[in-house]
Amino acid sequence: EKQGKVDGNGSRILVFVRLRPMNKKEKEAGSRCSVRVVNRRDVYLTEFANENDYLRLNRVRGRHFTFDAAFPESATQQEVYSTTTSELVEAVLQGRNGSVFCYGATGAGKTYTMLGTVENPGVMVLAIKDVFSKIRQRSCDGNHVVHLSYLEVYNETVRDLLSPGRPLVLREDKQGIVAAGLTQYRAYSTDEVMALLQQGNQNRTTEPTRANETSSRSHAILQVVIEYRVRDAAMNIVNRVGKLSLIDLAGSERALATDQRTLRSLEGANINRSLLALSSCINALVEGKKHIPYRNSKLTQLLKDSLGGTCNTIMIANISPSNLSFGETQNTVHWADRAK
Ligand code: ADP
Ligand code: MG
Repeated sequence: EKQGKVDGNGSRILVFVRLRPMNKKEKEAGSRCSVRVVNRRDVYLTEFANENDYLRLNRVRGRHFTFDAAFPESATQQEVYSTTTSELVEAVLQGRNGSVFCYGATGAGKTYTMLGTVENPGVMVLAIKDVFSKIRQRSCDGNHVVHLSYLEVYNETVRDLLSPGRPLVLREDKQGIVAAGLTQYRAYSTDEVMALLQQGNQNRTTEPTRANETSSRSHAILQVVIEYRVRDAAMNIVNRVGKLSLIDLAGSERALATDQRTLRSLEGANINRSLLALSSCINALVEGKKHIPYRNSKLTQLLKDSLGGTCNTIMIANISPSNLSFGETQNTVHWADRAK
């Protein structure tokens, strides 16, 4: 049973943890496993100081955390989608807004969870598939319009991932904050979407030194807007709009590193700004504060209408099982624990 905390504004934040499988590189490096997921909601962390600790596994007590759900390495993409996001999709189809974030260090599985692969599509693709299937089940499906936009925040610059080019300017209009000129792609079916999103993901900023790798400083935001008409209680036809935001956040390691070492580079400072601003907003929401500091970064400005208020917010914290990443894992789990 899911029981997200209801904050002062009536919004809910649900917090999940997903453990990815140990990879080949970690195995070859002789990694030990320092995370256990038990009962689908409990996470145990154990740092092994040495080989003897590991051999005495049962006697080493780990720190324990509980979340709305926790996924072991065997969890499927469908399972992660159904548990974390399918209810939110239902709410969005009722005309509400909501957002799903993947948080974690680089390599922890954020992009796998959000986008996935052609064989194992992630939350973004499964959510859109679900949107179309739920629309088809409605008797009035003819009047639903689904638009997608996919954008990046990199170094506090906003770019259109569906139509790469000049940076986009954020403007405030009647509907809130919008990225001027952003592509609104009208989607008619799920089939076209995976290729579109894969292509968009290819357009994310890469590290100059590693041309094929998405920069760990890049945030990717997919927004799915569903518009339809219904009759209200007085039988007037009214327009309803729901917006789902799915966010593959930048790697959390740099934000923490710059936290500790003071702001060294502009890029470091900016990545720090969006992730720190998001953390501040989430903390303010969790504490039920009236003032939510959305204005502090591009990411939080863009998500202003999808975070807090009557919106539902889902956080998926991605972690590696390897003791070689123990520091990052611990930071991520503590961060997730504070978001509850
Ligand atoms: P991040 O986006 O957090 O930097 P990725 O999603 O790119 O990390 O994951 C790193 C690698 O691990 C990728 O090769 C990805 O395919 C793989 N991976 C991540 N999570 C899983 C998972 N649950 N099952 C199988 N492979 C995974
Ligand atoms: Mg990634």
